[in-house]
Amino acid sequence: MNKKLKFLTVAGALAAVVIAGSLFSSRLWGEKAGKAALAGPLVYSQGMTAAQFAAANNLPPEVAAASFGSREGGFHYYDMNALPSDGLRASVERELALYNERASKNWLKIILKFVMWAAFLLTVFPLLRRGLVKGALRNWLYLAGVLIFGVALGADPSPMGTVKDAIVLYGQSGAVFLPRLKALGIFLLLVVLANKFICSWGCQLGVLQDLYFRLGRSAGLKRWRLPFVFTNTVRVLFFIALILAAMMGSDIIAPVDPFKIYSPLALTIWGAGFVTLLLAASLLLYRPWCHLLCPFGLVGWLAEKISVYKIKVDYAKCVACGACEQACPSTVMGAILKRDRVIPDCFSCGDCLAACPSGAISFSAGRRQRPPADKFKKS
Ligand code: SF4
Ligand code: SF4
Repeated sequence: MNKKLKFLTVAGALAAVVIAGSLFSSRLWGEKAGKAALAGPLVYSQGMTAAQFAAANNLPPEVAAASFGSREGGFHYYDMNALPSDGLRASVERELALYNERASKNWLKIILKFVMWAAFLLTVFPLLRRGLVKGALRNWLYLAGVLIFGVALGADPSPMGTVKDAIVLYGQSGAVFLPRLKALGIFLLLVVLANKFICSWGCQLGVLQDLYFRLGRSAGLKRWRLPFVFTNTVRVLFFIALILAAMMGSDIIAPVDPFKIYSPLALTIWGAGFVTLLLAASLLLYRPWCHLLCPFGLVGWLAEKISVYKIKVDYAKCVACGACEQACPSTVMGAILKRDRVIPDCFSCGDCLAACPSGAISFSAGRRQRPPADKFKKS
């Protein structure tokens, strides 16, 4: 089989495995019940109990109870003066949004995913530290990430979802779903501990894009490296648009959410087209979603600034050959090497570690050194 045909077969087979496997696993996990919603204007009257209010408006009893300001269970008499200042409807919509969030979650799957994340990341971390993540092993690890965190455990939760859904939920209903904020806290803590390690090895969409990028590289496709000032400007503008749209009640990511490749029945025609385009772009560009659009990509990039473990250069050993910069799939290694003021996202892939001929690069704790003034001057 010639190289081109082999490449097309592998790329197509990977997409087919992801879609067919995800269809199968979503069937196994089962669908969660449909969402409760307010139909029309609220029906209420003075002296109504929460139970009567729930029945009259076809609401779950706990939503009615919580909307009345009682979270301790017992239904209290409705008192117009005790209404929250933003009104009963806003209160019901907020409680309904939180109810739907809780009801849509498969907590067993979520716990299992976090346990698997812990096990997987703790396996990869020492390998990366010792510079053992390279070649075929890296591709197998990415494939394992796709199969475990995407195909088997689905589109939700994800680092991206914790930021995007928190913004959308708050913008649409004013509700704050605490379990999601805790998950976001865990992801950000991981970034503070070890760079974008969660994105590198744990995000189901990140590993899929990375795998396609490696496929493109192995087929000899030309690699495009977009300037960080361009990708980050697009990402910041998109983040602002996400917030503004959420405040107006819309979710601009939902119709094209590429994570839904792991939930194929939820993919719209636009979503299917977008994810196909994204994976095709990933053959040439390193993690296009992460660099251009992902809200967690942006937040994580900011948190990266205080990461404990990160890629560092020992200039006493560095022979200034530029092999690491060449090997890096994006522009970040060049910026780290020359200690630029703005360092783009580093996805802790280990390409630079494997490429350095003098062992000058490490994934270690501590501050980055500055290169000697004449280190990279051409003689
Ligand atoms: S930046 Fe990429 S890897 Fe990180 S959460 Fe977003 S999609 Fe996933
Ligand atoms: S090759 Fe680039 S992205 Fe990968 S670990 Fe090194 S600096 Fe980070």
